[in-house]
Amino acid sequence: MSERPYIVGNWKMHGTRAMLSEARAIDRAAERLMKVEVALAPPFTLIHATRKEASLIGVGAQDCHAAEGGAHTGDISAAMIKDSGAGFVIVGHSERRADHGETDADVRAKAESALSVGLNVIVCVGETEAQRDAGEAEAVVARQLEGSLPQADGAVAKVTVAYEPVWAIGTGRTPTVEDIGAMHRAIRAKLVSLYGEDGASVRILYGGSVKPDNAGVLLAADEVGGALVGGASLTAESFLGIVAAA
Ligand code: PGA
Repeated sequence: MSERPYIVGNWKMHGTRAMLSEARAIDRAAERLMKVEVALAPPFTLIHATRKEASLIGVGAQDCHAAEGGAHTGDISAAMIKDSGAGFVIVGHSERRADHGETDADVRAKAESALSVGLNVIVCVGETEAQRDAGEAEAVVARQLEGSLPQADGAVAKVTVAYEPVWAIGTGRTPTVEDIGAMHRAIRAKLVSLYGEDGASVRILYGGSVKPDNAGVLLAADEVGGALVGGASLTAESFLGIVAAA
């Protein structure tokens, strides 16, 4: 696994230019926190401004269209995201899968499109509460990984996986450290079976109700290489609390 923990803030559909001061504050602190790799995924409309305000942290997008361009009103291509100054894109977030009916095949196509223009990708997977209760969590996540991970040459070096149980997102509930460790070990095994030895160095983030007060415990679970943070990434104070715990 990579040496430095990777802490990524996903602003979702939050943020106008007034929030750039939070990005600036995070960036200034990131300089002092060299032991952690920090990134933000603001809405598309703030990518360029965030990149200009914050020079030390990573900046990425929350989604991209799979096509290079064309008649897709309202959509944004990977090349546009790259051009706006981003270095990565999140694909397959459960909110995209649920709100927009994105399938594993869609997620893979988006990931491959992003890689083709030189962006890194964070591929999200995670089970629903009903799937966990039915004892299917690992099988569901394995299937999502098989279907969603990019297969292009060299993909493995540019991929991060985020395990985000749907029932833990925005709910204040989290799995136990043991459950996170078990799932991350299963994801690691799957990555090695899909990518060979290189799969051993893919970072696996945990996401879902990560807060400053639980981050230390959650990040210490087996095979956890960082966190994908929603609500608690919206202020510099809480996001930096998580960074400090990493
Ligand atoms: P949350 O969201 O931290 O608000 O639970 C996490 C995510 O969806 O990435």
